[in-house]
Amino acid sequence: MRVAVLSDIHANLRALDAILARVGAVDGIWQLGDVVGYGPDPDAVVDRLRELGAIGVRGNHDLAAIGDDVIRDFNVDARAAMEWTRRTISPATREWLAALPARLTVDSWSLVHGSQRDPTWEYIVTEVAAAENMALLPSAYGLFGHTHLPIAYATLPGSSDLAGLAALTPPPGSSLALDGRRALVNPGSVGQPRDGDARASALVLDLAGPVVTWIRVEYDIEATQAAMRKARLPARGVSRLTFGI
Ligand code: ZN
Repeated sequence: MRVAVLSDIHANLRALDAILARVGAVDGIWQLGDVVGYGPDPDAVVDRLRELGAIGVRGNHDLAAIGDDVIRDFNVDARAAMEWTRRTISPATREWLAALPARLTVDSWSLVHGSQRDPTWEYIVTEVAAAENMALLPSAYGLFGHTHLPIAYATLPGSSDLAGLAALTPPPGSSLALDGRRALVNPGSVGQPRDGDARASALVLDLAGPVVTWIRVEYDIEATQAAMRKARLPARGVSRLTFGI
């Protein structure tokens, strides 16, 4: 079974379609939240995920898009983009977003946007936070997004001892075999990468093994940016896509 794991698509349809073209036929699509926000195509992205039968969880931007007052905690640009998103999305999109759970467990994998202890909001950026959250996992492995950074926190090969937990930054195209290890894995962001690489990022998960493989795919960034300008979305959100920051 091959599964595509997508996070932080952020209404960037061109980035999503480039990733889907690269991964080809898969047995499932799991998404880790922030389907909308920042980008110009919220309805089209949700339509695509719905057509493909994607399952997954909600992110903080998805929560804001359906009217939650978490928008108060957003910075100026995120808030302006979110106000546009709220005005723009169809009732069907709002309904699909509202139905997303905060957490989901499939097979040996637990899906959240942020972390186990705070599924919508916590950013896991340290090994200490990763170890604390790994101890809370209801399954062998965890998937998370929210930071927009491709990374794995994994125990040593053949060991489930959290004392050996280390952060692994995967080069694009690299694979990590998880046999016997425990791991929290982040696919990076499809629609707004922040690790200095502008290409769309995602993960292909081979459930037998299991083995995770990070992929990076070029997409038509300028077309996304043109659509954002046309929608009068914030300029900083447009320019950061060029640099992957
Ligand atoms: Zn995000």
